[in-house]
Amino acid sequence: MTGKAGFCGAGKLPEVSSHTLHFGEEPPISGTRGSGTIFFTHCTLKCVFCQNYPISHLGHGTPVSVKKLAAMMLSLQSRGAHNINLVTPTPHTAQIAHAIVIARSKGLGIPIVYNTSGYEGVETLRLLEGLVDIYMPDIKFASRESGKTYAHVPDYFEVATAAVREMFRQVGPLTLDNQGIARRGLLVRHLVLPGHVEETEEILRFIAREISPETFISLMSQYFPAYKAAESDTLSRRLTPEEYQRAKTALEALHLDFGWVQEIN
Ligand code: SF4
Repeated sequence: MTGKAGFCGAGKLPEVSSHTLHFGEEPPISGTRGSGTIFFTHCTLKCVFCQNYPISHLGHGTPVSVKKLAAMMLSLQSRGAHNINLVTPTPHTAQIAHAIVIARSKGLGIPIVYNTSGYEGVETLRLLEGLVDIYMPDIKFASRESGKTYAHVPDYFEVATAAVREMFRQVGPLTLDNQGIARRGLLVRHLVLPGHVEETEEILRFIAREISPETFISLMSQYFPAYKAAESDTLSRRLTPEEYQRAKTALEALHLDFGWVQEIN
């Protein structure tokens, strides 16, 4: 410990940019009353297409104590949230784990959602066993080239696939209550990238064959070229309907039937 911030830029205290009820997540997460979302600053990746770069790259937010973070969780529960949704929690994992323990001891009863880029160490995830109910990782890229070019981490796929295996070991497939709200399990998100549908296919094959065909997958079509993506040859445009259809066809061919797909015009 040198007292200096590392690559992600986070400090000793967790930093929060906002905490609010969020209705734009997948239906089992937002439900009817909203997901109690806490947006953390900083990120362990620096994606060139980041839509949240003022928060995740520049760290726009406020440091809070662990007790204050626990109080935020309890306040979101009292406002009716279906869950506590921790967005980009990774740089603050230790402090978040402490806050969950405090909040649970004071009556927090709703599920904890760990909403992450997927670039997680297995050892870190083991610290969260028993504290996190729902893991909601992205799997972003399948090739070393994309990991390196778009997020500066050529080992992204090997790290994320090991992490998703560990998440599944801890919580299993997603289970819903009788209202269709998530209670526990794994929900994998994948944003289909323009010009890279073959990586989508590889990611879906990994999930079907090495995790479980029961995995809940959110196949997202809403990519747009934010931040530095306009400078990229391939990521400077939106996805076409044909590309998204190809991704959906791969999902169907692999019998990955449990999940959420979108329409694209
Ligand atoms: S993982 Fe998400 S929040 Fe982090 S830099 Fe990439 S796009 Fe931004």
